Amino acid sequence: MKKQFAVIGLGRFGGSICKSLSEQGMEVLAIDTNEDKVNEFASIATHAVVADTTEENTLKSLGIRNFDHVVVAIGDNIQSSILTTLMLVEQGVNHITVKAQNDYHEKVLSKIGAHKVVHPERDMGVRIAHNIVSKNVLDYLELSDEYSIVELEAGQTVNNRTLIGLDIRAKYGCNVMAIKRDEEINVSPSADEVLRQGDIIIVIGADKDISRMEKDLFDEED
Ligand code: ADP
Repeated sequence: MKKQFAVIGLGRFGGSICKSLSEQGMEVLAIDTNEDKVNEFASIATHAVVADTTEENTLKSLGIRNFDHVVVAIGDNIQSSILTTLMLVEQGVNHITVKAQNDYHEKVLSKIGAHKVVHPERDMGVRIAHNIVSKNVLDYLELSDEYSIVELEAGQTVNNRTLIGLDIRAKYGCNVMAIKRDEEINVSPSADEVLRQGDIIIVIGADKDISRMEKDLFDEED
């Protein structure tokens, strides 16, 4: 059976979640207080309704507790976001993901029982900062305060060299998880895999180790 999602708040973030879920073939109920927004998503989502989710009876009449996953993407109105989340928790929704506007908002959402709190602007800011500091860092995903996954573009320093030859694991304590070359992706590269300039290397490790490795092997000028 198809999973059923509800997205509350159809701003830039909620709207993009709604579109992407629909494109992936999921059943999506799109909800907003703004009628124009709801009309915009009527042809994209499975259903789209005008509703104020801070009203308990409205949520009940939508049968919100039957959805597998509810995303709260109410932006600036932090009070509405908190109240909506609280009622979703009270009604026993299985998975609740909420977008936080700031660290305090995030703390409150976690305390009242949101299962996942996302902070897209902050996270994207961190990723972009890593990307602009070093042009070889294509993408960056923080796993914890200490560990990350990064995508690095192979330059001349590593061209024609093997993973074992570069001694990445022993020297830097990092693991190469995958290598992307053109459209191909090798998800379990062997030690004798030869790197080529332009390959995208996906590495997992401690930030300080990744940073050392990046400086030695990937930080190149044009
Ligand atoms: P973003 O930063 O993702 O663009 P916005 O703040 O622009 O977010 O959008 C949030 C959306 O949430 C708006 O379309 C707004 O109408 C909707 N919204 C705000 N409060 C409620 C509510 N109580 N119930 C349903 N939708 C709401």
